Amino acid sequence: MSDSNIGILYVVATPIGNLEDLSPRAARVLGEVGLIAAEDTRHSARLLRHLGLSVPMLSLHEHNEATRVAQLDDRLAAGDAIALISDAGTPLISDPGFVLVRELRARGRRIVPVPGPCALVAALSAAGLPTDRFTFQGFLPAKGAGRRARLEALAGREETLVFYESPHRIRDTLADLGTCLGDRRLVLARELTKAFETFLDGSAAELLARMDEDPDQARGEFVVMVAGAPPRQEDEAAVVEGEALLGALLGEGVGVKQAAAVASRVLGGGKKTWYARAQALKDGD
Ligand code: SAM
Repeated sequence: MSDSNIGILYVVATPIGNLEDLSPRAARVLGEVGLIAAEDTRHSARLLRHLGLSVPMLSLHEHNEATRVAQLDDRLAAGDAIALISDAGTPLISDPGFVLVRELRARGRRIVPVPGPCALVAALSAAGLPTDRFTFQGFLPAKGAGRRARLEALAGREETLVFYESPHRIRDTLADLGTCLGDRRLVLARELTKAFETFLDGSAAELLARMDEDPDQARGEFVVMVAGAPPRQEDEAAVVEGEALLGALLGEGVGVKQAAAVASRVLGGGKKTWYARAQALKDGD
């Protein structure tokens, strides 16, 4: 361990399939730390063997995360450097680590990310759906009623929706996406960075039909991406309504400032915005 590593928790991203995706920095850090906290030590032992490393490991998963905090904090206080890894991809992203990072940060420990693979980012980067705004929802509830309730709550969101899904539920989830969100474009990223990586594109019904034709398409790991809802019509309707109100008030001889105040009170929105619209109407723009 170098002096500069003292007392640091490194949050290290590991491959989501292709071992070549492990960054040189991640490999160096894993070799330099005194302890690796891993979601599943047996799973991560394979990665360490591949790197030719034999660093002590400690399990950190959802059932023991809270009790590990004090233990790992003591090690950091003693000057050890620790790496946190999960089975695949970036820790904390639908993986353990949030409680540990929150608590160590609260205790003033230095926490350093070592970025790398993450299934949602890899999927979005190649899907061809808008990425300027998206919402990542992790895994949907496992039971149908909960899943549909969550999807209904998301139905109006205009940004791209991103979910993780397992092969056991992919068909049910696609069916519910069709029912709750209507006829939207979906992109299914399967087995990213692995031998059978596939991107399927279409409506929920089309994707289900593809899986019926070729059951292999329902196997493996999935990122499900859904086009956002079309922009709301009500916004346009509100503008039309507002302009009608302003026009009527100005037509009755009400001043621009008062008309803006009335529109703001009746329809909501800032007075300044209404003032600008009323002034534009008066000027005949
Ligand atoms: N921490 C990981 C990350 O950074 O992406 C995610 C861990 S989460 C427990 C596992 C889920 O991520 C899988 O069920 C799947 O939805 C998605 N996933 C992980 N690897 C994937 C891959 N190679 N291809 C597609 N989806 C993947």
